[in-house]
Amino acid sequence: MDIAMMVSARSTCPRRQVGAVLVRDREIKATGYNGAPRGLPDCFEVGCLIENGHCVRTVHAEQNVILFSNRADRDGATLYVTDQPCFTCAKMIANSGIARVVYSRPYPHGPVDTAQYLRDAGIAVDVVVPSMLPPGTGQPA
Ligand SMILES: [Zn+2]
Ligand SMILES: [Zn+2]
Repeated sequence: MDIAMMVSARSTCPRRQVGAVLVRDREIKATGYNGAPRGLPDCFEVGCLIENGHCVRTVHAEQNVILFSNRADRDGATLYVTDQPCFTCAKMIANSGIARVVYSRPYPHGPVDTAQYLRDAGIAVDVVVPSMLPPGTGQPA
C-alpha cells in the first residue's frame, strides 16, 4: 500500500490522486495512477474536466493497471489501490482476473457500495490503514 501511495504522487489530476499496484506471487506486475490518456493534455495543463462534480478527464489508476498488465499476471493477483474503486473500475476489476482488492480511503460515491459489489463478484476486499501518508498532502489519508 505504501508503494501505491508513492505511485499516486504521479497522478496528473489535482482533485484526487490515486495510485494502484498489481502484485502477484510477491512481485509487482504493474502500477498505475489516474491521468489523462496518452498524448492528451492533463489536468495540470488545461484544468479538470468536470461532469456531475467529478473530473472525467483521467483514465483511472485501476484502469491503467488493467491496460498495462496481461491476463496471466492478473489472474489471482492482489490490487493495492489508495482509494476505494469507483463503480466503473469495480466492474472492470470483476472481469479482470484480480482476486483481491486492498484499499485505504473510502470513496462512498456512485450508485453502489463497490466493496460489497466486488465481494458479490467473488473478490476479496480489505481496507487497511497505510503506514505512510500520500506524498505532498500532510493530511491523514
Ligand atoms: Zn482532473
Ligand atoms: Zn475508477
